[in-house]
Amino acid sequence: MTAPLSVAAAQARILAALTPLRSERVPLAEALGRVLAAPVVSRRTLPPFANSAMDGYAVRAADIAGAAEGSPVRLPVRGESRAGVVPSRRLERGTAMRIMTGAPLPEGADTVVRHEDTDNGRETVAVRVAAAHGTSVRFAGEDMRSGDRVLAPGHRLRAGDLAACAALGEVWLEVGRRPRVAVLSTGDELVEPDREPGPGQIVDSNAVSVAAAVREAGGDPVRLGIARDTVVDLRRHLEEGSRCDLVVSSAGVSVGDHDHVRDVVAEMGRLDLWRVAMRPGKPLAVGNVAGVPFLGLPGNPVSSQVTFELFARATRPHRPRSAARTLEPMEKPEGLETFHRGILEHGRHGELPGVRLTGAQGSGILRSMVLADCLIALPAEGSLVPAGTVVEIIPLS
Ligand code: AMP
Ligand code: MG
Repeated sequence: MTAPLSVAAAQARILAALTPLRSERVPLAEALGRVLAAPVVSRRTLPPFANSAMDGYAVRAADIAGAAEGSPVRLPVRGESRAGVVPSRRLERGTAMRIMTGAPLPEGADTVVRHEDTDNGRETVAVRVAAAHGTSVRFAGEDMRSGDRVLAPGHRLRAGDLAACAALGEVWLEVGRRPRVAVLSTGDELVEPDREPGPGQIVDSNAVSVAAAVREAGGDPVRLGIARDTVVDLRRHLEEGSRCDLVVSSAGVSVGDHDHVRDVVAEMGRLDLWRVAMRPGKPLAVGNVAGVPFLGLPGNPVSSQVTFELFARATRPHRPRSAARTLEPMEKPEGLETFHRGILEHGRHGELPGVRLTGAQGSGILRSMVLADCLIALPAEGSLVPAGTVVEIIPLS
């Protein structure tokens, strides 16, 4: 045992011990939620050509300078520009051309007048506004130019990012490989969720939450099932786990008589038991099995979920923390950073949201995670946080 670590120090140590996975190329359709491994640099100009933002008439601003509601300017209408077709003629001085949204702006035009601001004429059009130069025109390159850095490595791809990549012709993207994460539960009392627990038995809920959290964080969970509290069974399961990129186990690392995880991991690789100054969530076991990083979470369900969030998920891009104001006093153990489960109440515009507790905060209370919108991260110092205090929160969705 070493001296207690702060949560931030433990996170930093875990991150420092990991080596990034290789990247891979995936088609756009499979890139949602993946983390970019290389920048996306524009090799196109967007929009590629000046086009109309409205249905109306392409004109020269100079030709309609005097137009007003009571004294419209009349222009002869010469031709049409429609989406998908380059207009065959240029716009002559003193004329108008009908134009549709997205259609190329003809040579010679610099402005579009919305048809609502005209009489919608066919032969001649009466323009009732003096639209300024550039009105309702989307100019070439106003969105992106060739050479622009559009997305940076480390960015998790969202729907809008994929749209931009498609528009730029980037139909394959270099992304980080999804880590394969072995999920192991340990304990003689555990039964699979589809079984009716017998006397003294508990449903293995940790494997379900850990696997789901792995998926949510962009990894592929590999369920190893339940290892019994024996050296032989643990060894067998951990050997299987060592074929993945990371092994996450829960329970069996305290000082109970049947807690063999520590010994077996130490024998197969290395194990350090960290005392992290936090609640819930002790103890935390960190090491490797046959060279594959190993994270041993505590057994209590809330502890395993909170420590996963802080120490396993946090190895992916961090969920940004934000602030809220406590709506009730909150107690905590002095000296331990505390992660209570909170319910947010969104205030009016400009106000911080309020946050209250979900109820009982025991590390076995599954309902506290069901009700929670966020974790309330209370600093180690102090044992009472009065109502009205601004605190940090970690949103859970
Ligand atoms: P342990 O760390 O093995 O002493 O377990 C601590 C507590 O967590 C005990 O009450 C266990 O029954 C419970 N626990 C351990 N593993 C799981 C699991 N996979 N799902 C739900 N509860 C668990
Ligand atoms: Mg146990």
